[in-house]
Amino acid sequence: MSNSTKYIFVTGGVTSSLGKGIIAASLAKLLQARGYSTTIQKLDPYINIDPGTLNPYEHGECFVTDDGAETDLDLGHYERFLNVPTSQANNITTGRIYQSVIEKERRGEFLGKTVQVIPHITDEIKERIQLLSKKGTFDIVITEIGGTVGDIESLPYVEAVRQMLWEFENDCIVIHLTLIPYLAAAGELKTKPTQHSVKQLLELGVQPDILCCRTEHDLDLTLRKKIAKFCNVSMNAVIEAKDAGTIYEVPLLMQKEELDKVVLEKLGLSSKSVPNLESWNKFLGFVQNPSKEVNIGLVGKYVELKDSYKSISEAFIHSGAENDCKVNIKWIHSEKLTKANINDEFEGLDGILVAPGFGSRGISGKIEAVRFARENNVPFFGICLGMQCAVIEFARHELGWTDAHTTEIAEDCKYPVISMMEEQKNIANMGGTMRLGSYKCQVKPESNTFAAYNSDLIFERHRHRYEFNSDFLQDFEKAGMIATGKNPETGLVEVVEIPNHPWFVGTQFHPEYKSTVANPHPLFVAFIAAAIKHNQK
Ligand code: GLN
Repeated sequence: MSNSTKYIFVTGGVTSSLGKGIIAASLAKLLQARGYSTTIQKLDPYINIDPGTLNPYEHGECFVTDDGAETDLDLGHYERFLNVPTSQANNITTGRIYQSVIEKERRGEFLGKTVQVIPHITDEIKERIQLLSKKGTFDIVITEIGGTVGDIESLPYVEAVRQMLWEFENDCIVIHLTLIPYLAAAGELKTKPTQHSVKQLLELGVQPDILCCRTEHDLDLTLRKKIAKFCNVSMNAVIEAKDAGTIYEVPLLMQKEELDKVVLEKLGLSSKSVPNLESWNKFLGFVQNPSKEVNIGLVGKYVELKDSYKSISEAFIHSGAENDCKVNIKWIHSEKLTKANINDEFEGLDGILVAPGFGSRGISGKIEAVRFARENNVPFFGICLGMQCAVIEFARHELGWTDAHTTEIAEDCKYPVISMMEEQKNIANMGGTMRLGSYKCQVKPESNTFAAYNSDLIFERHRHRYEFNSDFLQDFEKAGMIATGKNPETGLVEVVEIPNHPWFVGTQFHPEYKSTVANPHPLFVAFIAAAIKHNQK
């Protein structure tokens, strides 16, 4: 059965936040670099249908795919590492599984049978896992099980894995990511939590093939032997996963530990090929030894939880490396930003990014940030709500429309420069009214946007309800804010720029979702280049 798809399951033990997503993405990178087409999928054990309705404080950023799925931020890591787009099928939640089973039940598809967790929920899970291999494009599907082994919520997923291990005996392996804590008082690394977590997996009928051990110290031979012996894995399957300076170093650390080699051997695949990581290493060189640096202010209302802006901060790493430059992010809370403190807060910044967001909290700080950038000729990048704030700021202070706003916040304002399109108003369900996923955008030549992409037709991902109100476009363009990107089908304004400024770009779409190691996003690259220029002045 050598032509069949291979499945790698990644489970987590002892504690959450061990970085399963990064380990999965790093392994996938190594397999891809050996020529195996690989994809990664995340199964999330919570009951929400998707993370779209979750507060970023709960779950960090909501990542958006080309096909408009609102997903877990780990999918962002998968795309950034692999440079292959993910889709709806790459992120499944318990909510979605149950929704699908219940809909089938309502349609009578179970023919009067009692619908149960086993087999119906587990069958649905297995079907979703196999869906990716049915596309026929992947040699290897890596499935990351969210949560920690032993949680009540993840039981059906572990059971589905157990069944698949039987059904596809030679085509499945399990990697268990675990923690080897260091007890300072004893001066020792401790293996007991790992032994217990493997035992817990065994109770559920799953024997892990490989243990990835998160640790702050080296695992010596004695310790590796001990772990192997007590957890029934071979010595070479005890993989040390030490803390890394950057997540982009993890594939190399995993290669050193031969994780990819062990995986291929256990799956019966050839491990003769040598991973081609030439461009990855080049990128890493720029990340680790940049020749210059710039300071960028990131203005948002969730800056206490940096995961809320994961794709943006990662895009800065990619675009920084492309410019041989380290990007220092200064996290600036929009709620605390006022006219009175902005000069101090923005001292020494080479660029200002106003972040996406929803609702009124922190909006006046964001508008002040735009004003500062515009009036002081500091490179400015506004994303989604950040672009909308740029439009509001321009209307208020350049056009003199003091009552300009977005109808998201001030429904009855005199100048609704950002508003909801008529056809959207009728859709009432939360989540239902959003413009989600990839849309076409026609770019004007002789704009910063065109210069960045070197193309007049681009595709970018969206996640918003409100739009630039085209009724006012003429006034804006007369006063110096130009729509340099428009949707060719609907005429919606997707990009605004101020040509009479060193670099001022606001995008209704989210460019950060498409930035990868192999393809740093052109607008981020151009923004950092402008910031470098500003710095050198
Ligand atoms: N709240 C704004 C809208 O819905 C912007 C959304 C965003 O920044 N992603 O249009």
